[in-house]
Amino acid sequence: MGSRGRPSLRRWSMFAVTWHFSVWVGWGLVLWAVLMLDLDGVADNQAALLMLFALVLLGELRPVIASDHADYEGVPISSAFVFATLYLFGFAPAVILQAVAILLSEMVQRKDIWKLLFNVGQYVISLAAAWGVLALAGANATLADPRTVFGAGDLIWVLASWAAYHVVNVALVAGLAHEYGQTWWESFTEDWWYYTGTTFTSLAISPFVALMAAHAWVMLPLLLVPLLAVYKTASLARDHQHRALHDSLTELPNRVMLQRTVEEALGEAGRKGDGAALFVLDLDRFKEVNDTLGHQTGDALLEVVARRLLGAVRPSDTVARLGGDEFAVLLPDIDEPADAIEVAGRIRTALAEPVVLDEVLMDVDVSIGIALFPVHGRDFEMLMRRADVAMYAAKGDGTGIELYDAGRDPNSPAKLGTVTALREGIDRGELELHYQPKVSLRDGQVVGVEALVRWRSPERGLVPPDEFIPLAERTGLVHRITEHVLREGLDQARSWWDQGLHVPVAVNVSMRDLHETDLAGLVVAQLDAHGLPAEAVVLEVTESVLILDAARAVSALRELRELGVAASLDDFGTGYSSLLLLEQLPVSEVKIDRSFVRRLDEAGGDPAMVRSIVGFAHGLGLSVVAEGVETLGAWNALRQMRCDVAQGYRVSRPMPGPEATRWLVERIERGPAERAGLRAVGSARIVADL
Ligand code: C2E
Ligand code: MG
Ligand code: MG
Repeated sequence: MGSRGRPSLRRWSMFAVTWHFSVWVGWGLVLWAVLMLDLDGVADNQAALLMLFALVLLGELRPVIASDHADYEGVPISSAFVFATLYLFGFAPAVILQAVAILLSEMVQRKDIWKLLFNVGQYVISLAAAWGVLALAGANATLADPRTVFGAGDLIWVLASWAAYHVVNVALVAGLAHEYGQTWWESFTEDWWYYTGTTFTSLAISPFVALMAAHAWVMLPLLLVPLLAVYKTASLARDHQHRALHDSLTELPNRVMLQRTVEEALGEAGRKGDGAALFVLDLDRFKEVNDTLGHQTGDALLEVVARRLLGAVRPSDTVARLGGDEFAVLLPDIDEPADAIEVAGRIRTALAEPVVLDEVLMDVDVSIGIALFPVHGRDFEMLMRRADVAMYAAKGDGTGIELYDAGRDPNSPAKLGTVTALREGIDRGELELHYQPKVSLRDGQVVGVEALVRWRSPERGLVPPDEFIPLAERTGLVHRITEHVLREGLDQARSWWDQGLHVPVAVNVSMRDLHETDLAGLVVAQLDAHGLPAEAVVLEVTESVLILDAARAVSALRELRELGVAASLDDFGTGYSSLLLLEQLPVSEVKIDRSFVRRLDEAGGDPAMVRSIVGFAHGLGLSVVAEGVETLGAWNALRQMRCDVAQGYRVSRPMPGPEATRWLVERIERGPAERAGLRAVGSARIVADL
């Protein structure tokens, strides 16, 4: 019957009144008992008292565990021995025994002092109530006049004394409940049902203990045998339950336990009108660790993560392992989204410290999704689902931390409308491709075009890809888009090649294409169907392909390369792949993200980043494309840095197929330099014609 963190004792509240009452009255009774203690009587019953004291102490330290409840405190078996002392020798020795035993055991358990003071008072007052019943029945023994015989009629007052003890005990604890969001009555009835069985079970042996102590105290320890058996069974049950509710590797609560804790916390927060936050965490690239360094190292890493997570949150928060590399954190008192984000930031910082395992230095990155009670959900399932959606957003965007956003939830009713509309749009052929040229910075020759998809929706107009591709990625629709873009892009390439315009068409593929489908098979089938060579197509992938399963992405790209299909790493610099991974990724081209290129134009813009990416990529034998080249200034700066290819509004905006065809033809006839307004270098023909 314990309680959590200490509320104020100064404020005039039910909690404070109950606490002060229990402490002052209870400890007053202890003092009185000490003063009243009949020392001669103690000396006369020395052996029996010592034996009882030993058993009370043992009973305090080894409570009988009630295993059908999340609360492990259980009911101490010691009450049987305290009551035996009460029947046999009266109030004073029983109170002293009880007080000393609680003091010692709670000090061993390092309980807070305010709890310790209260618990002693609480049990002493309850005992006084029992003693009152005994006194009324005229059954008050003393040390000088021990009661050593029990008759049939004694059963009534014995039972009545237990009832008085139990009622007062539960009533006092309920006096503290208000602070924890329960009414006195709620707490009283809850504890009454929960503790009545165990309390009476423990008290049931008290008359036998009294008889033994009176007539054969030497045999009292024999009682320990069945009691220990009960204890053993109970603790086995508890271990079993512990295992059912905890993860065996990290010892953290598992999903089942988390659900219980969350439901309890939500109930409390709901009553008090407070908020709460649930995080879902997923380690980035954990599978790589497992695959390359083995499961043992993977397990060791998870243990480190578990410890760091525990260290990063408060003791009142709950950290759970959901399985694999997924964890969850419950913050029971969070009201502001900003507070939740701050804690998430702290967790990420705590995990960011590199880990050394098996002499390998590892970076631990984690993506955290946050759902808040009550705004994002009012029950466990809903909060988990939404924290999960937010976690995927954090991972997909590489932001690390995301708060749930209904606007990005593929399952939210508004988005479901869009998904359905998009699916129908694809069926009705509403996707169209625009093409944007990539030209050589050296001589202005066209080295390829990129196919960029748009959705011409009758209701929404021309929808740019950023508005539907992320949604399509989350719902799996992206596979159909990729297939469509490949087919249509190659249709266009076929027609260009037929006109002698041998430009490779670049198609953007998403990470899910690489992970979930046989992309190589699809590309080869489409090339065959169009009668085009492998050089006619280039696949653009972003760094995000490395997030989920780098090994899978690498092997898919390698397979394609063996077939002669080149790949290009898109939006380089925005994600979080390391330069090391770039070395392993089988791509032949790197596209510097337009955010870096844009900075080349800004006054005082620092070209060092672009320059070093160019240098590094050249070192690996890769060709470098600059995206988003909008100005002559950027063009010249890139040329000067020996960047290979430019793509951007400076050269041309993305154009529909027929317009792109005209542009390409004109480019060949007029020559690139004239068209682009640049200094003429080299030939005017497109590269594939050379
Ligand atoms: P991306 O692959 O990096 O494509 C380049 C984007 O930059 C295009 O945006 C293009 O219109 C824009 N852009 C080109 N030159 C300039 C410039 O000079 N200045 C500025 N500010 N922007 C420029 P768009 O067409 O809106 O496409 C956005 C993204 O959507 C693409 O980025 C790509 O990641 C994705 N996407 C486009 N088509 C597809 C597709 O068929 N499949 C998949 N999975 N993703 C696609
Ligand atoms: Mg692209
Ligand atoms: Mg890009």
